[in-house]
Amino acid sequence: MSAIDNSSTNERLHYCPRCRKPLRRIQGKMGPFWGCSGFPDCRTSLNDVDGKPSIDVDEHYRCPLCTRQLVKADKEKGDYWFCSGYSKGCKVTLADHDGVPEAAYQCQKCHHLLVKRSGKNGVFWGCSDYPNCTASYNDDNNRPKF
Ligand SMILES: [Zn+2]
Ligand SMILES: [Zn+2]
Ligand SMILES: [Zn+2]
Repeated sequence: MSAIDNSSTNERLHYCPRCRKPLRRIQGKMGPFWGCSGFPDCRTSLNDVDGKPSIDVDEHYRCPLCTRQLVKADKEKGDYWFCSGYSKGCKVTLADHDGVPEAAYQCQKCHHLLVKRSGKNGVFWGCSDYPNCTASYNDDNNRPKF
């Protein structure tokens, strides 16, 4: 048995995604969060979601195509989000803007995502399935005009 205080909840232990040591639930000034018991060698901290550590999955952000959760990529890989349905065939990735996935819009013809492009006549939105789908939409304040 370990000496980790687990008395407040009877839940199984959660482990640090980086060093695999147990995580501790800590009451911080801004509310509860999870810190690694390997601190200060490991400075992992995770948000608390319903009493469990959230492993970089934010409940608020959903894939615009399949509505599965979006997952933020590892820092080393760059600032972007990908669909948690990736292994199921949904290859949506979205750029990160200050911790928020960029807004994405679906093509009205084929339901692929649209990408913002700049052409001779200014900015427009084209289908990411181009050239299979040649739909394009005018830009209206940073969003496609349908
Ligand atoms: Zn750790
Ligand atoms: Zn998806
Ligand atoms: Zn399309």
